[in-house]
Amino acid sequence: RPSHPLLDPARLEATLAAERAAYAHAHPRSQAAARQAEASLLFGLPLHWMRDWGLPFPLLIERAEGATVHTLDGQALDDFCLGDTAAMFGHAPPAVVAAVQRQIARGSTAMLPSEDAAAVGALLQARFGLPQWQFALSASDANRFLLRWLRAATGRRRLLVFDGCYHGTVDDCFVDLDDDGRPTMRPSLLGQVQDLRGSTTVLPFNDLDALEAALAEGDVACLLAEPALTNCGMVLPEPGFWPAARALLDRHEVPLIADETHTLSAGPGGWCRAQGLRPDALVVGKALGSGLPVAAYGFSARWAEAAMVAKLAAAPGHSGIGTTLSGHRAGLAAMRATLETLMTPAVYAGMLARGARLADGLERLIGIRGLPWSVSRLGARCELQYGPRPPRNGKEAAAQFDDRLDAWLHLALLNRGVLLTPFHSMMLISPATQDAQVDHLLDALDQALDTLAAA
Ligand code: PMP
Repeated sequence: RPSHPLLDPARLEATLAAERAAYAHAHPRSQAAARQAEASLLFGLPLHWMRDWGLPFPLLIERAEGATVHTLDGQALDDFCLGDTAAMFGHAPPAVVAAVQRQIARGSTAMLPSEDAAAVGALLQARFGLPQWQFALSASDANRFLLRWLRAATGRRRLLVFDGCYHGTVDDCFVDLDDDGRPTMRPSLLGQVQDLRGSTTVLPFNDLDALEAALAEGDVACLLAEPALTNCGMVLPEPGFWPAARALLDRHEVPLIADETHTLSAGPGGWCRAQGLRPDALVVGKALGSGLPVAAYGFSARWAEAAMVAKLAAAPGHSGIGTTLSGHRAGLAAMRATLETLMTPAVYAGMLARGARLADGLERLIGIRGLPWSVSRLGARCELQYGPRPPRNGKEAAAQFDDRLDAWLHLALLNRGVLLTPFHSMMLISPATQDAQVDHLLDALDQALDTLAAA
């Protein structure tokens, strides 16, 4: 990792200790509430991952509106985490709140469709260009279900994924390449008793030779991929990668599932629509319901037909696809309002302009200080990375990552009124995010770096 006087580990440790103390001092009510929660919640939290924010104790949020979260201790934070994308269209957008309130009062689930269902299907068709849709409660489920549909439709077992990917809690995806390039089960995965390598092949991103070799095996059901990796830092496709990959997939008649859950930041029809990549199936989750648990997945005509044939040919009974609340009425109302009022080209124009403002500002700060960092951007999503060049694949992204530096950065910005996405340094712009909030983030980073320089 390239060195720089500002990033000296001793300097970082000293400032990190001061930032931790400042955090504790500013959040006494959060600290008391966190202690109380330990009495009834595993790890004191509603979801064990919330520990991975790396905060001295959990931060309690009292309410969230637009691009601001209000803490229990009364601070207003400019929110660039936005629920790790689930609130990408802003917290509590009024049109969605009204639609959901109306629907909940009229019954939120019946295991039968509402009129919103076909309206949402038509809106998804128009945005993403795929003709047939189904719903799920999370992007994890949507990916899991599509994998089943396509394994059933092709009669093939093997899944291809890219090293460094994350597609939710889909067990089949948790295979990594080790330092010698050999497939290995992700060491953090709990309770998995199958050897996933028997049916999953993991490839380096941006590597056409590896893709071609895997396809030549002839047993591939599908490639499940984010158009750009966004969960190991950010890895953008090299120019020409996707057109060539698409041609290889076509030659082998292997369908591509584009997981656009995060790359939806690139435009109202996701990265594929913005860049002209043709997926055979597509997943969009998280932000689609503006915070309600929903996801949707679409099929091209060919793969919709193949999925229906597989279902009709199977024995009647449990398919392993779907959950009781999938397609629930409140979620359909939320998706409809989100698609109609927020996932529009006009709304995205402002988000993309602020994404560019943020990326330019970050690059300016890096340049002035001569830091060995880089910035990658997917429309309304920016990633600050701790290497002089953006990574080409998951391995390079992992090699650049610096967990101490990341912990310092997140806490230093939080103490200065700015919330970033945990796990890496992802910054997301919503329709509600103002230029002043972008400038505040940049000022906060500048001040934090000054503190480091003075340590
Ligand atoms: N796909 C991608 C690309 C994701 O980043 C995530 C979550 N970070 C998921 C799927 C899973 O989403 P969820 O946890 O809402 O199921």
